[in-house]
Amino acid sequence: MNIPTMMNGAILPGNSTVEFRNFEVPVPKHGEVLVRTKASTICGSDIRCIYREHTGKGPEGYQPGMIAGHEPAGQIVAAGPGCRRFKTGDRVIIYHISGCGVCNDCRRGYMISCTSDQYRRAYGWQRNGGMAPYILAEEKDLVALPDTLTYADGAQVACGFGTVYEAIEKVGVCGNDAVLVVGLGPVGLACLMLCKALGAQKLIGSDLSPERVELARKLNLIDAVATTAAEVKALTGGNGVERAFDCSAADAGRQLAVRATRKWGKIALVGEGGSMAVNPSPDMIHDQKTVYGSWVTSIWRMEELVERLVRWNIHPEKLITHRFPLDNAAKAYALAAEAKCGKVAVCFDEEMK
Ligand SMILES: [Zn+2]
Ligand SMILES: [Zn+2]
Repeated sequence: MNIPTMMNGAILPGNSTVEFRNFEVPVPKHGEVLVRTKASTICGSDIRCIYREHTGKGPEGYQPGMIAGHEPAGQIVAAGPGCRRFKTGDRVIIYHISGCGVCNDCRRGYMISCTSDQYRRAYGWQRNGGMAPYILAEEKDLVALPDTLTYADGAQVACGFGTVYEAIEKVGVCGNDAVLVVGLGPVGLACLMLCKALGAQKLIGSDLSPERVELARKLNLIDAVATTAAEVKALTGGNGVERAFDCSAADAGRQLAVRATRKWGKIALVGEGGSMAVNPSPDMIHDQKTVYGSWVTSIWRMEELVERLVRWNIHPEKLITHRFPLDNAAKAYALAAEAKCGKVAVCFDEEMK
């Protein structure tokens, strides 16, 4: 394989545009690998914190000039000395945050919460990410991608699917449950796909965008649509759902998730930002409800999710509605920012179909 010495990478200046800069193709050092990017999907957080304006702080602080993209999957083309498990030719997903590896959160596998200011660096935020033909990654951040999953499947595990899987595991979902998902963007759709795989029989979706409701229907991921708690109750024997997920990040959406959940039910908040106005006694306390906050997932849980995607024969790439080559990254981000479609991906090689 001929690896070039220079490459074009997409950066986000923060004014709703995409710029290209020339970067050296890195040579992997000890414990590092060079990955040929195959699929790199765009996340709501890219739009919220970077694309329109650089608003993020701390873990969501984008370092100007970094190659964007924190949801990459690809194939290792060079492995540095000292790699212990992965080698050239391996298909991999990159966990999107490289942690210090030795703080308590890293030891739990939640590099997202790494407490080291010096060593915690997220791909596409504080170190170069997946919007380039090659990406330098640390071996410890890799998850093996099974042959039966595509790179586009893998790119979505890197963030969206892993994130909802964590929330689902926190509240527990099974065939007993009617589930409400508020917000039918790519994260909400991923949540529905996994709840369905876990046996949930009644899936109710809610979104203000008719395009997104239509997409959820087309993908056969919702049995019913509701916009009020009364409508959800009417669909569930007057009781409300057992489990609800907010993927909308809207105050009204979160209120709906909480109020449409039945007594003893559980709610997970996944969508980021904004606020939530609830009346604790009638909305939560008197009905014995539990509300969970859930942020990303751990690398071991991502590994287990990948194994289960194969077992369940489900393909996250079904949520991708648009694929672009890297040269058209500007179009890809603009489309994702409209928030009307499914997942948007920048693809290379065999994934650019
Ligand atoms: Zn993401
Ligand atoms: Zn750490």
